[in-house]
Amino acid sequence: ATSKQLPYILYSDEKNLFSERRLALMGELKKALHNQTELHLVLQPQIRLSDKQVHGAEALLRWRHKEHGLIAPSEFIPLAEEAGIITDISLWVIEEALQLNHLICNTNPDHVISVNISAQDLEQPNFVAKLTQLVNNSPVANHQLLLEVTESAMMNNPGDAHLALAQINQLGVKTSIDDFGTGYSSLSYLSLLPVNELKIDKRFVLDISAKTQNYTITETILNLSQNLGLQSVAEGIEDADALYTLRDLGCDYGQGYYISKPLSLPDYLNWLANHLARI
Ligand code: C2E
Ligand code: MG
Ligand code: MG
Ligand code: MG
Repeated sequence: ATSKQLPYILYSDEKNLFSERRLALMGELKKALHNQTELHLVLQPQIRLSDKQVHGAEALLRWRHKEHGLIAPSEFIPLAEEAGIITDISLWVIEEALQLNHLICNTNPDHVISVNISAQDLEQPNFVAKLTQLVNNSPVANHQLLLEVTESAMMNNPGDAHLALAQINQLGVKTSIDDFGTGYSSLSYLSLLPVNELKIDKRFVLDISAKTQNYTITETILNLSQNLGLQSVAEGIEDADALYTLRDLGCDYGQGYYISKPLSLPDYLNWLANHLARI
């Protein structure tokens, strides 16, 4: 009986979907995208764990609303998906990220910029064509752009996801499975996807030293990634202990508050100039 009731509980929760705040925010998000004043990217460094050299940065979107202040992506990204404007947002973020990376390459020529994209993007027939235009217009090498897609997003529509990833791969743009280990996808399906990297979710990394279970899961994901010939990155590194544990397990790259919080471009450029002295 409980399993039959579940959808109704979810449905009544989702009445909030069309609450006034949500509807107002959807309209304002469209305007913010159009005016390009309230949206900006922050950058969180990713380092190579073996020698702590900078590998790249993840670009994370921020919306500074003129009345409500900073709105979290966990609130406005689902709104953008509802409103059908997520692909316009993704393309804006990619274009912006390519520009920032071009600047960063002045001092760090091999710097890789990662961008989060959404399930809907992979289902849009035009997405790859528009991505192609953007990377062709950027002087930075295509392999210095990486697109992160969550495991659950891939499962939304596995056929479309697979095709789009194969085309992105042809372009030379890199791809990563974000929040790896948190979905319900089968390993046999995931292992067939044409991606370059597995990104270990922060829920396993945050208490990797305190919880044997999380250590074991992380170890298993890293073995899988090595066996599949994929690179690996961990998010949510909050202390030195997590950093060295992951390094010793063979994880290639890492990001987290211990290394740095997400930073504005000027702060990030400054961080790049001094980071080895800090970690
Ligand atoms: P994500 O891609 O898994 O990004 C990692 C999130 O973890 C970021 O939150 C980051 O600030 C946070 N984080 C980083 N290091 C640490 C740490 O050491 N400890 C803890 N507790 N958290 C850490 P943020 O920026 O709030 O983003 C949340 C999610 O929103 C992202 O998760 C991503 O799924 C989505 N998102 C952000 N920007 C974009 C975007 O441009 N497009 C799309 N489609 N989604 C985005
Ligand atoms: Mg991500
Ligand atoms: Mg290019
Ligand atoms: Mg994640």
